[in-house]
Amino acid sequence: MSTVLVVEDEAAIAELILLNLRHAGHEVTLAASAEQAQAAVDGVLPDLVLLDWMLPGQSGLALARRWRGEARTRELPIIMLTARADESDKVAGLDAGADDYLAKPFSTNELMARIRAVLRRKAPEALDSAVEVGGLKLDPSTRRVQRGEVELKLGPTEFRLLHFLMTHPERVHSRAQLLDRVWGDHVFIEERTVDVHVKRLREALAPAQCAQMVETVRGAGYRLTQQVAAPSA
Ligand code: CA
Repeated sequence: MSTVLVVEDEAAIAELILLNLRHAGHEVTLAASAEQAQAAVDGVLPDLVLLDWMLPGQSGLALARRWRGEARTRELPIIMLTARADESDKVAGLDAGADDYLAKPFSTNELMARIRAVLRRKAPEALDSAVEVGGLKLDPSTRRVQRGEVELKLGPTEFRLLHFLMTHPERVHSRAQLLDRVWGDHVFIEERTVDVHVKRLREALAPAQCAQMVETVRGAGYRLTQQVAAPSA
């Protein structure tokens, strides 16, 4: 399931989008201004933001630009919504860092298809597609993890952690990033919580001989790799 922040000051449009997204299984938060949106993002990073261009006060365009300039929100998937359909506006929206751009009025089907496409590209952990890395398979829809014939038992947090790592393999994630993306809380949870769950995850992966796929990168964080180094003698 994915979380979507809808930033839209027109209540009727916001409500319509909210109903459609909920119907499609997304968890939705509404914000009616750039300030409210910033406050929501400061608390929990959503998987995706639907951002209206014209907002009271700061514009959606300025907000997108600000988010792109900050490390924590640089990768945040953003779809700009706007009544403007000029080519130059579209270019400005994409230049500001939006991943996609949708002119009003748009059909619900098109909105859903664009959301899926952006999530697939930027936040695949928010989708229910099965993933495989180095023979290790994880299926979010059945909550099964296996390698060959060996089925692995994971707790809910370890499952989410593995899902995130498998959908972003070979990349190093800091503890703060993992708290944001897996726990959804970078403020009140201590970073060593990540270490505790990584340890549990490795223990859970051990029966399939893939505990070493979760690598500690000293001073940086953790990474899931399929290029497992040969154990040193
Ligand atoms: Ca508006």
